[in-house]
Amino acid sequence: AGSTSASTIRQVKLDRESELRIEVGYDSPLRLRLVTGTAEIFGTELPPEIWLTFPPRLKFAVFAWYGATIELDGTTETDYTADETPMISYVNVHAILEGRRNRAKASSSEGPRVIVVGPTDSGKSTLSRMLLSWAAKQGWKPTFVDLDIGQGSITIPGCIGATPIEMPIDPVEGIPLEIPLVYFYGHTTPSNNVDLYKVLVKELSQMLERQFAGNAESRAAGMVINTMGWIEGVGYELLLHAIDTFNCNVVLVLGQEKLCSMLRDVLRNKPNVDVVKLQKSGGVVSRNAKFRQKARSYRIREYFYGLANDLSPHSNIANFSDLSVYRIGGGPQAPRSALPIGAEPAADPTRLVHVNINRDLLHLVLAVSFAKEPEEIISSNVAGFIYVTDIDIQRKKITYLAPSAGELPSKFLIVVCEALGFDSKCF
Ligand code: ATP
Repeated sequence: AGSTSASTIRQVKLDRESELRIEVGYDSPLRLRLVTGTAEIFGTELPPEIWLTFPPRLKFAVFAWYGATIELDGTTETDYTADETPMISYVNVHAILEGRRNRAKASSSEGPRVIVVGPTDSGKSTLSRMLLSWAAKQGWKPTFVDLDIGQGSITIPGCIGATPIEMPIDPVEGIPLEIPLVYFYGHTTPSNNVDLYKVLVKELSQMLERQFAGNAESRAAGMVINTMGWIEGVGYELLLHAIDTFNCNVVLVLGQEKLCSMLRDVLRNKPNVDVVKLQKSGGVVSRNAKFRQKARSYRIREYFYGLANDLSPHSNIANFSDLSVYRIGGGPQAPRSALPIGAEPAADPTRLVHVNINRDLLHLVLAVSFAKEPEEIISSNVAGFIYVTDIDIQRKKITYLAPSAGELPSKFLIVVCEALGFDSKCF
């Protein structure tokens, strides 16, 4: 029986087609519930009456198609309502994709393969999420592909991956990760090893192609691909590579005329590819380099400890001889532009290098490969990640945290040259 006078609950009324944009405070979570009407968060409907708890720093919007009343409990960094949003155009895209899925299902052919492109902070991940949740609400199981190695949402930074979306995405928990298909690149920018990035994109697409071949349901539902915000130079080249590799037939360009017209121009001889320009939402929050860096370490922490500290990773000990650690690529690659014309960079970017276990591995995150032989490491997806907490040179033992107890699914581990923006204070 606490005093009700100290209550911080506030009500917010949302008009038809308007949204409440919220940045949760930095130190404490925010509780929110839908009191009347209907509302959704990035495509997922809110359950009536039930309080939901949003963790600190989360940025999101509650959108009402027909009007709603929301209650908030707690402090926010900012919150305001906006009635100008691009939601109608987004849902129109969804309607067109729906038509294509139905046609694909009827003719046992391939559903839409959508790729979302645009500069950083244009709302790519958010649009991907809405399209997936709206599709899942209608009973489809589209595949989400995340090619964003910096701020991606599949496992930890430095990865690309894919996962089927079978239900509207939980507004708090985010993308479900029960059975993700993950490839470990190991850096947060593709420029460190462009060739390796391309190889992994190719591997991922081939794996999905094989899965689609045996699964008409997911083939008809199609995929939604989220990309990096790097859209110039090599970044642009990688977008074209992704569009081509995944055989995309819908390119959604967020918030940039120039990119849209460049893509229309280069794709004009592919009449089955639609390039659609969409407006960026005014609600998208820009994040600076420091914030992005922080967000990356939080994601790594979240992988081991859960969003609300609700997981407890296991500490395990292994003998040096039980593990085999590799690095991909011969260190940083000299940019081609720095070499004399015609010369090739000396280090093969997809070369596998065996790494001796020593204290250099301390406090690093290593990927656990599904490979059975070293030769398979580059082309294999990864089972998960471990975090090295101790190296005992004398006893030749390595102590590490893993999400679960028991033996690792493989002895082959991949190490990165860079710390992935990882902050050991997090542990
Ligand atoms: P990146 O540059 O990392 O690829 P992005 O283009 O994918 O970013 P998002 O991640 O979709 O951008 O959006 C950036 C941030 O803005 C996210 O925290 C997201 O939750 C928030 N956001 C997006 N749309 C809205 C909105 N309408 N209201 C409030 N916050 C929003």
